[in-house]
Amino acid sequence: MALRTGQSLASSVAGRGTAEGRMGAAPGEVQQQWQQVRTLLRAEIGDTAFGTWLKPLDLVELAGDRVVLAVPTQFMRDWIVANYADRIRALWTRLNPSVRSITLAVRPPGGEPPAPPAPAPVVPLEPANEPAGEELGARLDPRLTFETFVIGKPNEFAVAAAEKVAMSNTPPFNPLFLYGGVGLGKTHLMHAIGWRVRQRDPSRRVVYLTAEKFMYQFILALRSKDTIPFKELFRSVDLLMVDDLQFITGKDSTQEEFFHTFNALVERGRQIVISADRSPSDLDGLEERIRSRLSWGLVADIHPTTYELRLGILQTKAEACGVDVPLRVLEFLASRITSNVRELEGALNRIVLQASLTRQPVSIEMAQEILKDVLRAADRRITIEEIQKAVVEYYGLRMADMTSARRQRQVARPRQVAMYLAKILTPRSLPEIGRRFGGRDHTTVMHAVRQIERLQAEDRQLAEDVEALKRRLQA
Ligand code: ADP
Ligand code: MG
Repeated sequence: MALRTGQSLASSVAGRGTAEGRMGAAPGEVQQQWQQVRTLLRAEIGDTAFGTWLKPLDLVELAGDRVVLAVPTQFMRDWIVANYADRIRALWTRLNPSVRSITLAVRPPGGEPPAPPAPAPVVPLEPANEPAGEELGARLDPRLTFETFVIGKPNEFAVAAAEKVAMSNTPPFNPLFLYGGVGLGKTHLMHAIGWRVRQRDPSRRVVYLTAEKFMYQFILALRSKDTIPFKELFRSVDLLMVDDLQFITGKDSTQEEFFHTFNALVERGRQIVISADRSPSDLDGLEERIRSRLSWGLVADIHPTTYELRLGILQTKAEACGVDVPLRVLEFLASRITSNVRELEGALNRIVLQASLTRQPVSIEMAQEILKDVLRAADRRITIEEIQKAVVEYYGLRMADMTSARRQRQVARPRQVAMYLAKILTPRSLPEIGRRFGGRDHTTVMHAVRQIERLQAEDRQLAEDVEALKRRLQA
């Protein structure tokens, strides 16, 4: 199956916009329902989002059980379909139970109702509306754009790089390699790049998928003994984004295929964006040539959040959801939930939901009550210092041994154990862990982690020590 652009897709179904699909005046009653739906939506999503996305919508008609709305651009259409259409339908059905579906039609340029010979391209809500490239990849989430991404010190470099990629017609660096811990915004930035690229030029083929899905599709192709369509499809995209590359490690033939796809695209001047939870050099299990190739472009890391960034994100999200959350509560959350943005968002959502269900104002006491479990988990979060202390006690050493340069086995091995535990029990990155162990290099930490992983399989005593320490720390 060939990839289609949004353009050709819209026109390919234009024939469905029969005479009854034209934008004419709808009867007063239907207009009135539309007004009510708009009012409800506006209250729900706030003036800003309403003004941007829903105000430009026009009611075309109610035909049978289907409401047809006109929207100015393909991009807006995709956005509304993904984000608001279900809600519009639900509200409308409540006012008028005969309404079962909402159809969005892209209004031809000029904004005037089309003349009879040029019926409006009516695009059904359901599957056929996939924008270019989606047969291969996953849908882009309409909430994940640059507009909704809050910039702060920990991510400003990555955002600048992502914007540069999104705004360039030829790859400014290839690949863009984004890395950072869980829930810090890698996927969000990739979707944002995808949206921006599509917005700038809807004909560009954008494919976003996880490394796992890439592998899966390739394995399917291998099984069918015909990998040529797979290769051709992937090599014809303009922007390929592969998320969570760490999962591709170890599967030789998929690595091989990934490498060839990668090279073919780079040669053709197509942009590639990769994300992973660690840097290319730390992606063990990946062939050396791939690892070095990944570092050719720009490697941008997203650091753990700071208090300022967390507060900024909370303020933005609280505003967007239209519930009044006092600054004190946001500050409380920003200082107590430090792991990642996903958890922070989850906490805010729970509070907002609770407030709107009970119609009670949001307070710190309420937040504490609702988030009991989350806060307890956050309090229990293990720090590198605790790990060092536990290891020092366990082996009868001194704290200074954790940061010293001494290389004697009886000191060096426990230190490696501590680094290993820091890696698996805390969200800290390798460079950060290195810093906390007397300013060691991240490669030293990596080496320690691998060493302890390997030794646990061979050395019973060490394996028991590690287990005992883990239990003690997690208790
Ligand atoms: P990752 O892919 O790095 O694990 P995600 O991109 O899935 O993380 O981000 C987790 C959640 O946090 C998403 O809902 C995302 O929208 C949100 N998020 C992360 N960073 C930011 C940010 N700087 N501004 C706004 N939302 C963010
Ligand atoms: Mg992700």
